[in-house]
Amino acid sequence: MEFLIDRDEAVQITISVVAISLAMAIVFAQPEGALKYPREFLFFMLPILVTVGSGFILHEMGHKLVAIYYGAQAKFRMWIQGLVFMLVTSLFGVLFAAPGAVYIYSDRISKKQNGIISLAGPTVNITLLMLFVALQLVAPIQQYFSFLVTWGSNFSGFGISYGTLNAWQFGAAMNLMLALFNMIPAFPLDGSKVFAWKWSVWVVFVFLLLGLGAVLIDPGIVISWGIMLLIFAVLSKLLFR
Ligand SMILES: [Zn+2]
Repeated sequence: MEFLIDRDEAVQITISVVAISLAMAIVFAQPEGALKYPREFLFFMLPILVTVGSGFILHEMGHKLVAIYYGAQAKFRMWIQGLVFMLVTSLFGVLFAAPGAVYIYSDRISKKQNGIISLAGPTVNITLLMLFVALQLVAPIQQYFSFLVTWGSNFSGFGISYGTLNAWQFGAAMNLMLALFNMIPAFPLDGSKVFAWKWSVWVVFVFLLLGLGAVLIDPGIVISWGIMLLIFAVLSKLLFR
């Protein structure tokens, strides 16, 4: 069993991480902000790479590690169409985080193993979330960005308030969002595989995420995510029993 990343995979990982960080930066800076303050925008990419870029790729490496542990082959493959789609939608303020994923090659992965491989990704995001919350307490980093002023105080739960970014708080919230998004029980997202293995595990995990969200982000967002996840869960139960 070895955990190997070859050159080709490393290139695809690098492109995907830069692309998702760029898309996220555009969502928050908005295209006009990025054009008006190009130097600030470049500098803004740094905290995004450290918090969102790492959240994305360590999530994928979590899948890879557990898949290899179960004797499968696993490789990260970027997805050009998804990557382009992500960058285009970011111009309209929407992040559709799909620049690529880990592909698993094996003919003897059970439903349970697949469920646990899938759970590994969001578990990495929870770990990062805890790390960033701890860093926010012991070593907060604040930086003012002109283009973030438009968010006012509404985004305080995301670590953005009147133009000031609290990098770790933002990172914690973004990793929660990454975990919630991936737990949507719709194929090919992780949630669908966890749900197919044991829906009770899915429910417990989602409750844990929403509980963390209630503490970190405003309860309104938790309610909207809770309702959306519930609708998807009911549909999954009805459609794929
Ligand atoms: Zn995943």
